[in-house]
Amino acid sequence: MERKPVFNDWCPGCGNFGILRAEEMAIQELGVDFKKVVLVSGIGCSGKMPHFVNLPVGGVHTLHGRALAFATGIKLANPSLEVIVNVGDGDGLGIGMGHFVHLGRRNIDITLIVHDNGVYGLTKGQAAPTLERGIKTKSLPKPNINDAVNPLAVALSAGYTFIARAYAYDVIHLKEVIKRAIKHKGSAIIDVFQPCPTYNDINTKEWYDKRVYKLDKDPTWDPVVRKEEEKQSKFEKALLKSMEFGEKIPIGVFYENELVPTFEERLESNIPNYREFHPAAQPIEIDGIAT
Ligand code: SF4
Repeated sequence: MERKPVFNDWCPGCGNFGILRAEEMAIQELGVDFKKVVLVSGIGCSGKMPHFVNLPVGGVHTLHGRALAFATGIKLANPSLEVIVNVGDGDGLGIGMGHFVHLGRRNIDITLIVHDNGVYGLTKGQAAPTLERGIKTKSLPKPNINDAVNPLAVALSAGYTFIARAYAYDVIHLKEVIKRAIKHKGSAIIDVFQPCPTYNDINTKEWYDKRVYKLDKDPTWDPVVRKEEEKQSKFEKALLKSMEFGEKIPIGVFYENELVPTFEERLESNIPNYREFHPAAQPIEIDGIAT
């Protein structure tokens, strides 16, 4: 596909570039009809994703913390759309935390990508919800006094049925995780370590390169729930694994469960003639699988 250059004003070296590229490649490789894809974003550096993506897909740049509310409305109005949401950790896990929790408990078939850099980059690097206590980045006058939110643990507790973490500078691995999240039937979250070289001089590329390791390299790691009886043990393993954050930090898929009905399926079983009521609500196929 011929692509024209798109204006982009992210800082040189920003992890957002890796997320942008991985997302573009994932959408293309899945062969999803571009007209059926909607990118939704909130406010922050990540909010520019719908503007900067170099694909003829739909996009909405919404309000601070409200991207998931818009995305929910879009998905309800037309369930046949593939809705992908990009938020920062400040946007999505600070002011947007209420919506973050409720997306999980409803299990709406939406993919959420969190650009996790620990700072509010667009407003000069204040501490954001995933910055650990005691860390003093170069834009903070004193070390952060608040504990960090663990997005994966919150997502697990909230009911998300696909939970993953990735790293923006490992674009190929991130792309594969995004593809799996888009194909997943239900609420999917990927927490992406996204270095901000301008304001976060602690969680840098060098810092992550030393620590991240891939869960998929471990042949004993199997996050997929295939029957009800496995749910409890896989949930507990994923929760424990999500707490591993120090000299070694796991990335990859932590939990995947398609046995839980999606919000659309719950509506369908509660509203007679739901599909007729919603003429646009026809499932789309990816790799021969209805999603
Ligand atoms: Fe990226 Fe940080 Fe620059 Fe924002 S401020 S564009 S997150 S490097």
